[in-house]
Amino acid sequence: MSVKPEIALVIVDTQEDFVNGSLGSDAAKAIVTNVVGAIDSVTAKNPNAQVITTQDTHSDETYLETREGKYLPVKHCIINTKGWEIVPEIKGRLKSLKYRTITKEDFGSQEWQEFEPILHCVKTIVLVGLCTDICVVTNALILRTAYPDARIITLSDCCAGTSQEAHEAALLTMKSCQIEVMTLEEFNKGGYENNILLPNNEDKED
Ligand SMILES: [Zn+2]
Repeated sequence: MSVKPEIALVIVDTQEDFVNGSLGSDAAKAIVTNVVGAIDSVTAKNPNAQVITTQDTHSDETYLETREGKYLPVKHCIINTKGWEIVPEIKGRLKSLKYRTITKEDFGSQEWQEFEPILHCVKTIVLVGLCTDICVVTNALILRTAYPDARIITLSDCCAGTSQEAHEAALLTMKSCQIEVMTLEEFNKGGYENNILLPNNEDKED
């Protein structure tokens, strides 16, 4: 019988094109090691953690005709190309874990609904990835709505935005929506254990 996870780690769009490829940036390159650290941290403390990766996914033929393509006419994350793949450092770390992947054609995903049987017991959801001000914030707010009682944490130094200003603005928006924002170090130091907002078991009462 499988044990229901109490924590989920959502790794948003850590794909080649957002790190090293057509939409890559130094800020994105700088978070890769921290994302690996977040995977290690969450799964070491919680062997049953549910790890979920998302992958931005576009068609070479139709991308430029889509709404996103009209606003952002830079082809990226074309399905089954190198740019679509999760960067090797993160993919390598995921290999030994059980994880699930959501492929999505837009910033957020309708597929979260299909994760309800897995995630309904989850008390904490941790988000990392790219880009803070587009896909991280979109999925964070979808999860905020879908799981109103869950503690949701975004690890600020495991995310990068389209600019530093946009990154910080998105973190502020998430804070306003009662998503906790902390660094990986703060998370490792006990942001997780010492700041439980919701009662999670009876024997803590006395
Ligand atoms: Zn895209």
